[in-house]
Amino acid sequence: MPGKIRVGILGATGTVGQRFIQMLERHPEFEVTAVAASERSENRTYSEACSWRLPGEIPDFVKGMRLQAPQPPLDCDLIFSSLPGEMAQSAEEGFARAGYPVISNSSACRMQKDVPLLIPEINHEHLRLLEVQRASRGFRKGGFIVTNPNCSTVMIALALAPLHARFGISAAVATTMQALSGAGYPGVASLDVTDNVLPFIDQEEEKIERETLKILGRMNGTQVETAAFPVSAQCHRVNVSDGHMAAVRVKLGRVARREEVREALVAFSGPPQEMRLHTAPEHPLIVRDEPDRPQPRLDRCAGGGMSVTIGRLMPDCVLDFRFVALSHNSIRGAAGAAILNAELLAAEGYLGSAHSGAA
Ligand code: NAP
Repeated sequence: MPGKIRVGILGATGTVGQRFIQMLERHPEFEVTAVAASERSENRTYSEACSWRLPGEIPDFVKGMRLQAPQPPLDCDLIFSSLPGEMAQSAEEGFARAGYPVISNSSACRMQKDVPLLIPEINHEHLRLLEVQRASRGFRKGGFIVTNPNCSTVMIALALAPLHARFGISAAVATTMQALSGAGYPGVASLDVTDNVLPFIDQEEEKIERETLKILGRMNGTQVETAAFPVSAQCHRVNVSDGHMAAVRVKLGRVARREEVREALVAFSGPPQEMRLHTAPEHPLIVRDEPDRPQPRLDRCAGGGMSVTIGRLMPDCVLDFRFVALSHNSIRGAAGAAILNAELLAAEGYLGSAHSGAA
């Protein structure tokens, strides 16, 4: 059996970085061989630098690893990036230029025309953009950038995808209630969120509105033709530790019965399920019919944190249907999404030696 693919994590000490470490501890294809963070952490061991916030102890394998600067070279074959948006672009492009595949969770490169904004269940065909990158970027052989969406966009896009495919969508409105861990650590000040809801998350509404349309867009030649319906988003930070929720209303392209809509959601699956990728949930969408679900505390870990739970599905008197979607922001919304993207890329031969030949 060939050896594992060696991965480096940028932003390894952060909320998402810790989730990467946890999810990769016993991964069958990937092993963490390099960790990078800010100057504050550089040259310290992971256990010295990291304020570990997940249940349980820091995994032994990473405790003694020394944190490095997020720049090449790093001792690895693949980069997972969870750097803050403002500095992610130059770091990620630097690694791609040096020949590393970069699987990014940051917002910096998501909307670049030649960068796949990938949810493998939905838009696997967008990987054709890698040929455009290869032809135009001057990245060294093997280097490229693939991104995953914003933590709320991912659940909204997953919920809309089967409706878009089966009925068409004319308009969608999403109102989010987003968990505290979505702001990273230490995140929002406790005095701001105690007994309170914050009706502003910087850039979040814009990200949901534009990323959803790119994800649901179709490849047309060498470009993604974005989906053509309006998306309107309002975002709120609520006093929940993990698990983002969105109340969604959707106007369909044709008349549909509730049972047809429900069936489209329940039946949804894609290449990760067919290929039985390690991190793929059996059911990307789980529909619950109880009147009081989903709830963050009860449903965020559905499908190992990789399923989106949908409830409250009913006809709507303004648009056609409404429902509530919920998913785990640092798993399906971040590290798990990136790992699933990497598993797809590995299975399709984009990583390691299979890719070098094609690059
Ligand atoms: P975080 O908890 O604040 O962690 C930030 C990480 O980046 C830490 O490892 C930090 O290292 C490192 N870092 C900060 N400034 C740096 C610099 N100037 N140079 C190099 N490294 C630096 O943030 P997070 O929540 O993990 O978010 C990371 C990224 O993922 C962001 O782009 C965010 O938008 C995105 N994201 C987050 C979530 C979520 O649920 N939290 C979901 C989806 C996407 P030190 O420990 O050394 O400071």
